[in-house]
Amino acid sequence: MKYSEFVDIYEKLGATPKRLEKVSILAPFLRKLKEKGKPEWGYLFYGKVVADYDAREFGISRQLAFKAISSAFGINNDKVIAEFNKIGDLGEIAEKFADKRKQSALFSKALTVEKVFDNLRRVMDIEGKGAVDKKINLISELLASANGKEAKYIIRTLLNDLRIGVAEGVLRDSITEAFFEGKKEEMVVKIEEAYDLVNDFAIVFSAAAKGVKELEKIEIKVGTPMKVMLAVKVENVKEAFEAVGKPAAFEFKYDGFRLVINKKGNEVKLFTRRLDDVTAQFPDVVDAILKNVRGESFILDTEAVGFDRKSGKYMPFQAISQRIKRKYDIDKLIEKLPVEVNVFDVLYYDGENVMVKPYTERRKIIEKIIKNVPWKIRTSVQKVIGNEEEAEKFYHEALKVGEEGVMVKKLDAPYKQQRRVGYMVKLKPEVADLDLVIVGAEYGSGKRAGLLTSYIVACSDNGEFLEVGKVGSGLKEKENEGGTTYEEMSKLLKPLIIGKEGNAVKVSPKIVVSVTYQNIQKSPSYSSGYAMRFPRITHYRPDKKIDEIATLKDIEKDAKKGERK
Ligand code: ATP
Repeated sequence: MKYSEFVDIYEKLGATPKRLEKVSILAPFLRKLKEKGKPEWGYLFYGKVVADYDAREFGISRQLAFKAISSAFGINNDKVIAEFNKIGDLGEIAEKFADKRKQSALFSKALTVEKVFDNLRRVMDIEGKGAVDKKINLISELLASANGKEAKYIIRTLLNDLRIGVAEGVLRDSITEAFFEGKKEEMVVKIEEAYDLVNDFAIVFSAAAKGVKELEKIEIKVGTPMKVMLAVKVENVKEAFEAVGKPAAFEFKYDGFRLVINKKGNEVKLFTRRLDDVTAQFPDVVDAILKNVRGESFILDTEAVGFDRKSGKYMPFQAISQRIKRKYDIDKLIEKLPVEVNVFDVLYYDGENVMVKPYTERRKIIEKIIKNVPWKIRTSVQKVIGNEEEAEKFYHEALKVGEEGVMVKKLDAPYKQQRRVGYMVKLKPEVADLDLVIVGAEYGSGKRAGLLTSYIVACSDNGEFLEVGKVGSGLKEKENEGGTTYEEMSKLLKPLIIGKEGNAVKVSPKIVVSVTYQNIQKSPSYSSGYAMRFPRITHYRPDKKIDEIATLKDIEKDAKKGERK
């Protein structure tokens, strides 16, 4: 298959913001792809060459992309940099150079998807000595036989900046449209469930192409990351009961981060809710699991909470968030920022998918298999409550001991991944707080010169990112203040720079932050049509993925609420 066929689809997808149109472009193409017997090529639609859950990256910095373009087109590196400073988009620059070369008849044979996929895989896998040069060679080999548009998408893929607005939802709906025309509604759910179990486009796509029976055979694979159940927000105890029924299970809502714990034999694997593998960062948790949980194989849903050894007090998420990303000095960090694992659910136990069992049954399993060891691992604090008065008491007790609020769970409900079905609701004091992604930044001045210190943040709207404001406060000046510093944020953002204009840069949307603000108003200054007033970053959220950020609808809803206290 020619790579240009993919590129045509990319162009068409990028040209429409409408989800339904995207689906009608993709579905016929998926039928065609089925004939090729290479389901993994579909990964290219979300700009990857591995399953959705697989966090491996191409590791291509802007500098490296400059070099690859320069070597592929025989152009001086400084000239590429100068072009970048002028145009600010490396994809377009590659397109321009490739088009020019075509006119000078240096163009060679057509690029195949096989070749592109294969080289991209190798770029991702190469490590160690000489890796940079090898990566450059693999990329320039592709660019050497690419036409303008192909060159643009190769570079955009490598820089994680495909810009075709295809999120998982569009892919799922396209599979349904492609293979189950008659019974769409029913299949949408089935495909979503299969997708949630394996998080792998290729597996779901090839099963769906064979029919419903194959799709139903898809099972949990212990050791690969799984999506978790999400909570619906309620305003008070009465609403909580209305949502999940009476009596209900009340639990403390711990202010840590979600950790999905897999064990098979003696191997333990830890994943965040955004499916990142964080096993290496938490050897202390691995040890606690091996010592204190019975069972040959299981998947537990937990919240890991930081605490202070000296005072014996829990610490807010902000303080321990750095443990999620840290790859060095792990032993020191365990000493400084220990965590306690609070287990609140189980998805799989000794060969059986227990998500279909009611909550009460699942709770019994965790109570049976977990040995509570204070400050290491324990089952979450829980109480089954049937009246509002007692529920209020439990809620206030939770707040008094410093928890964020309570989670209230439906006793007879199964575990449903992802969907905010209302089988578990969260109740906590109201704060104006949105999760947004950073899409741009500006350099600071004076003491902060050279650092990116103010950030353009955006919400999502059907796979597109729309700006809602600029935020320059909330992070810390120094490391010992606890929490993410401007310097750390700057370091995270610099490799993501994909465009430049004066003092401002555009970055590939990767970094999620929680932002608090006074209120949201209509504003022509930002692409969403709204702006936050007095925004401040409360947390960097390495545990969140960009498809979990606030949507334009959330912003509109908040804008309607008007001025807050
Ligand atoms: P928030 O920012 O309010 O934590 P969120 O968007 O991160 O919300 P939600 O699913 O809406 O996630 O809220 C539930 C989160 O609360 C879970 O993801 C989990 O990390 C955390 N949590 C803490 N304690 C519990 C508990 N006992 N049961 C379930 N989830 C819990």
